Amino acid sequence: MANIIDGKALSLSLKEEMRSRMETLEAEYGRRPCLAVIIVGDNPASRSYVRGKIKAAEFVGMGSILVELPSDISEADLLSKIAKLNADSGVDGILVQLPLPAHIDEDRVIDAISLEKDVDGFHPGNVAKLWLSRPCIVPCTPKGIMAMIDSTGVNISGKKAVVVGRSNIVGKPVAKLLLDRNATVTIAHSRTADLAAVTREADILVAAVGRPEMITGDMVKPGAIVIDVGINRIPCIKEDGSEGSRLVGDVDYASASEVAGWITPVPGGVGPMTITMLMQNTIECFLRRLTS
Ligand code: NAP
Repeated sequence: MANIIDGKALSLSLKEEMRSRMETLEAEYGRRPCLAVIIVGDNPASRSYVRGKIKAAEFVGMGSILVELPSDISEADLLSKIAKLNADSGVDGILVQLPLPAHIDEDRVIDAISLEKDVDGFHPGNVAKLWLSRPCIVPCTPKGIMAMIDSTGVNISGKKAVVVGRSNIVGKPVAKLLLDRNATVTIAHSRTADLAAVTREADILVAAVGRPEMITGDMVKPGAIVIDVGINRIPCIKEDGSEGSRLVGDVDYASASEVAGWITPVPGGVGPMTITMLMQNTIECFLRRLTS
């Protein structure tokens, strides 16, 4: 049976560490780091993610600003809100919760966030720096994945890593981070031939697909580290017989945990670590701005 990489517990200890640093930061720099989160519209999943981010900021004791905007806000008005936050010297990090309504160009919005306040690491300037191996703000989910792999104590160097999924926010950046740590990296995707043969080679397997429980135990190399990024809501029948839903990952936990050496649960795995890395990125932006 696999060891569980407990994202919730790891996340809590990292947040407690940050919380204990806050007073020192305030004493040294005259104020605490501050994160601004913009949400447009009332998508329930986005609202819940944003609530989690603000709650984490409060927990670690940093400042937070929640900017709630109606779903029919024009792109120009959203851009002007971002410009104001860019110019506000008391704001260190700016995050615009995605997805945005269809009439707003997400690329234009991401590009409008000041590079030095881009806590998500999605700005093309940060992406370019990541791929050039220059100091940059690393996107939160990939950064959290690396911290979880490191928490196992397994040396990444020389290992075969397979990342299933090639999105800009997870698959591609985590593949680059694994490459930087000298793993031999394969990126698989929807056109990969014989996916199971590819994943079975992986000492480190990262699933970032968005398909419920598609990575089954027979696709996992015995002893592998399996990181399940997926967050999928599937229908279920609740204890009282009524219809409900539950969260599952991209990995079939029951069968994969029989084979893997290490595995992340869903929920309680990558999700909490993503939010915790956002807190770390905000502190990093704060320090870079105040010390540069
Ligand atoms: P995405 O942009 O939809 O990308 C999905 C990737 O999976 C694509 O590269 C796609 O390949 C690939 N794919 C789809 N079907 C496949 C198949 N049958 N075989 C192999 N590859 C396949 O997704 P994402 O934004 O990376 O998110 C992935 C999952 O992670 C989602 O469940 C999302 O909710 C979750 N997520 C979680 C967190 C967290 O904090 N825990 C953060 C971000 C995302 P093509 O490129 O060929 O289409």
